[in-house]
Amino acid sequence: MPTTAMRTPVLVAGAGVAGSLTALELAHHGVPSMVVERADGPARIPDLLLIRGRSMELLRRLNLSGDLRAAGLDPDHPLDFLWSAGVERPPALQWRLPSVAELRRRYAATADGNAPIEPYVLISGSGLVGRLRRSLREHPLIDLRTRWTLTDVDAGRHTVLATVIDAGRDERHVVETGYLAGCDGADSTVRRCAGLTLEELGPPAPHLTVHFRSPGLARRWANPAVVVTGRATVVAGHDGDLCVAHLPVPADDQATVVNPADLLQDRLGLADEQPRIEAVVQRAGVPSVARSYRRHRVFLAGHAAHQAEMPDDVDVCIGDAVGLGWRLAAAVHGWAGDRLLAGYQTERRRQALAAREQARRSLTARRRLQRLVESEADRQTLVAELRNGPPQLDPAGTGPAEMAGVPGFRPPAFRLAGGDQLFDRLGPQFTLIDITLGGEGSGLLKAAQARGIPVRHLPLAAAAVPAGWSGRLVLIRPDQQVAWCADGPPADCDRVLDEVTGEREQLYENT
Ligand SMILES: Cc1cc2nc3c(=O)[nH]c(=O)nc-3n(C[C@H](O)[C@H](O)[C@H](O)COP(=O)(O)OP(=O)(O)OC[C@H]3O[C@@H](n4cnc5c(N)ncnc54)[C@H](O)[C@@H]3O)c2cc1C
Repeated sequence: MPTTAMRTPVLVAGAGVAGSLTALELAHHGVPSMVVERADGPARIPDLLLIRGRSMELLRRLNLSGDLRAAGLDPDHPLDFLWSAGVERPPALQWRLPSVAELRRRYAATADGNAPIEPYVLISGSGLVGRLRRSLREHPLIDLRTRWTLTDVDAGRHTVLATVIDAGRDERHVVETGYLAGCDGADSTVRRCAGLTLEELGPPAPHLTVHFRSPGLARRWANPAVVVTGRATVVAGHDGDLCVAHLPVPADDQATVVNPADLLQDRLGLADEQPRIEAVVQRAGVPSVARSYRRHRVFLAGHAAHQAEMPDDVDVCIGDAVGLGWRLAAAVHGWAGDRLLAGYQTERRRQALAAREQARRSLTARRRLQRLVESEADRQTLVAELRNGPPQLDPAGTGPAEMAGVPGFRPPAFRLAGGDQLFDRLGPQFTLIDITLGGEGSGLLKAAQARGIPVRHLPLAAAAVPAGWSGRLVLIRPDQQVAWCADGPPADCDRVLDEVTGEREQLYENT
């Protein structure tokens, strides 16, 4: 097989959610990358994904929010969560996620700045990855190579050599790169080759995800619905006749998965029709997180770095991609050192652990509720149980309101005098929001300029910011988190810049 040598500042392995967004974030900061993707067409993830408002704010920076919304579910439809003894039975309980249009109205009426400037979006996984891949193809700084499989990595201290096979032409390429982003999913080759290992966080929750067509089931409810029964969770009404069933499978009873059609019929007990199976995915459901997200210049993001019992963690993957992308861009441009890169692992690993803990709690609460539904508990008992552990679905994802504006958290969102959202006026790199009017931010701006740290100066009238705004000088990071704030100029500007381009010890709550 012929071998050629290639070079790129950053190589991204995998064009799923994490890889596509890492490349788009790098491009947002002017950094070219090559993305190698093993598959030919877009990924088949027909599951319905909920991207929370906070993630949509991050995607809006990349001009993606409108495009994704257009590919998402009808903004006028709410999503109903129904608890029932079986899909053929009337629901014992119902909880409604308000429609995007309804939340937009509510958010507009909220004055505390904690509401996201973009409501959530519900979108099929295939629709999401399809749109992201299209953006990769259209971007002049991104070189997407499909049917290219990364097979080996030599993770040196100063450079990375990756071996990639082009299945279309039957060629081997050795790609020399400054940084490698391993976004190649749960069975990551990058992780294995870089010698990075996963730590298991709990017992596995094996399950089968069955995608099937059932016109009767898909049209049973007025709105798209998630139906939770004792033996299955079914998503229906979101994509024509297509339905998705998550079926828990006991670890010691793998024989039940041999015939998914029978299993589906048995679990759902559909009276009138035989569902047509489109795809079946078996998942081990082992919750795990990489012990380290990094080896020298090789980094992990998305499912290569962490997996939960159920794959409902698209927001964590988006946060990884944004967090890795802006830091790698800073390293390529030369204005940040190794401590900023180290901060990626500190922040994102903690975030993965926090998200998994939340997923574990909601899975436990759901199982308890399922057992009650199964045992035909009365409505009062179910309501009491729901109050104990309400559905853990926060469509905003902006974190606690009282933390808004505190370093490590998102600033409150508000509209400026001309009607623009503050968030739309933030720069791609750092932004200094300055309400001193006396130029008290100039020392920090000059110090940043001397070090090559790009900072956009955003002077505002004090009256423009909402009550309780955290400081007269507020420095915002590229991922829209407050990096530093004070009521006057810092005594030591370099110390502030060291801190904001270094590793933080706090838990970042809201990406
Ligand atoms: C079937 C399924 C159902 C899901 N359901 C939900 C849900 O209900 N809710 C939710 O929030 N999220 C859901 N997700 C999304 C998931 O939680 C993540 O957000 C996302 O899939 C993880 O993205 P990733 O990019 O890290 O990994 P992946 O999506 O696995 O992407 C990895 C990519 O890398 C490519 N690749 C692998 N190895 C190589 C190699 N050696 N060289 C080159 N390319 C390679 C693969 O082809 C793939 O395109 C689902 C995902 C899947 C797959």
